[in-house]
Amino acid sequence: MVTKYMIHGPCGRIRPASPCMKDGKCLKFYPKQFVNETIFDDDGYPVYKHRDMGITVKLSGTDIDNRFVVPYNPLLLMKYQSHINLEFCNKSNVIKYLFKYVNKGLDRLTATMDQSTSGCQNSQVVDEIK
Ligand SMILES: [Zn+2]
Repeated sequence: MVTKYMIHGPCGRIRPASPCMKDGKCLKFYPKQFVNETIFDDDGYPVYKHRDMGITVKLSGTDIDNRFVVPYNPLLLMKYQSHINLEFCNKSNVIKYLFKYVNKGLDRLTATMDQSTSGCQNSQVVDEIK
């Protein structure tokens, strides 16, 4: 099920034309680096454990290793048999972000409409900020 549902891409040097690639880099930062335990980087973002166990699976003729596996929970994966990206958030600033995200409301904007003057030689100054 991990092979079927939880593999990102492949992308990177293996498949540079993948939709997640921009300017030669994966927008989701795959493949991840091998690390033996989950740590936080200097910016406070988690770097999840991706051990180099020497295990690969063959997808589209390419050997894929653990660096392409999206964080998951085995119980949820087996129960729902679908892609469920599960990541832990345990820093106090994440709770603040989550609170703001839940309460931000719908997207909205403020717009004004003005009467159009004829012709392209319009000398009227439009206050775009207004
Ligand atoms: Zn990617």
